Amino acid sequence: MLQEIAPHIFHNEFKNPSPRDTDLVAAFDGSSVLLVPEGGFPPVAEILTLGAAEEELIYLFAVDEICVFLLERPSETVKAALRPIPTAAFRIMEPRFMRLAGPTALHLANWYRANRFCGCCGAPTVRDGKERAMRCTACGALVYPRINPAVVVALRNGNRLLLIRYSNRPMAAQYALIAGFTEIGETMEQTVRREVMEEVGLHVKNVRYYADQPWGFVGNQMVGFWADLDGDGTVTLDTSELKEAVWLRREEIPEVHDPADLTHTMTELFRLGKDPR
Ligand SMILES: [Zn+2]
Repeated sequence: MLQEIAPHIFHNEFKNPSPRDTDLVAAFDGSSVLLVPEGGFPPVAEILTLGAAEEELIYLFAVDEICVFLLERPSETVKAALRPIPTAAFRIMEPRFMRLAGPTALHLANWYRANRFCGCCGAPTVRDGKERAMRCTACGALVYPRINPAVVVALRNGNRLLLIRYSNRPMAAQYALIAGFTEIGETMEQTVRREVMEEVGLHVKNVRYYADQPWGFVGNQMVGFWADLDGDGTVTLDTSELKEAVWLRREEIPEVHDPADLTHTMTELFRLGKDPR
C-alpha cells in the first residue's frame, strides 16, 4: 500500500526548520504536481534559483533526513521550469516514498488553500508557530488539518466476495469494495453496517478491523474492515450510486498487481485465500 515506504521513514511531527538546498519542494498547479524532468520533487536550491523566496516555503514533513516544503503559489517561472504530472500518478510513482509523500503534500496543500480565512468570522488566518494549525487574526479561532474518516468493507460469503462497480466515478470500470464516510455521531463499525445496508441491502456480522491508510488525494483516512454476510445474500442495489454488485468466487476475481490502496489490497488477499479469519 502507498504508506509502505520502508526502509524510508516518514516524520510528520511539527517543526519549523529552515530549508536547506537539498530539501525538496512540493508545488501544485491545478490537478498536477510540478516535478523535475526526471521525476521527483525539485530541490529547494532550484526553486530559489527560479526566484521563489525562502519565506514562501512552508514545512510539511520529512522523509528520513530530507524535509519537504510546500510552495503554495508557484510563479510562472517555476511552472515553466518544471514538468506538470497529474497527481493521480503518485499511486505508482518512483522512488516509492513519493507514493506517500505526494498525496500527503497534496492533502496539506489543499488544507492550507482552503483555510486562508476564518470560517467563524471571515478574517484572514495565519500559520500558528507552535503546531500545525491556522489561527484567525481577529477572533483567535484555531483550525487543524481536516481528515475525513471513511470505511472500506470486504464482505464475504464463504468462498465469495462482494464486489461493486460505481455508476459515475473515475475508475468506474474497476471492481471496488463497499465504502463510505463515517457520519457524525456513529462508530466505524456502525458505518460498516449502515453503508452495506444502504448500498446493497445486506446484513453483516463478524465486523473486524483490518488496516487503515492515509489517502491524501481526497483528504481521507481509509479504514478497512472484513465482515461476513448475515442471512440472505440477495442484493438490493442502490442504483443512484452503483451500477453493479456481484458475489465473485476467489478464482473469478481479477488480479491486481502492486495495489496502492486498501480496496485492492484486501481484494487481492481474498483472491489468494490469505484473508484473516
Ligand atoms: Zn475568526
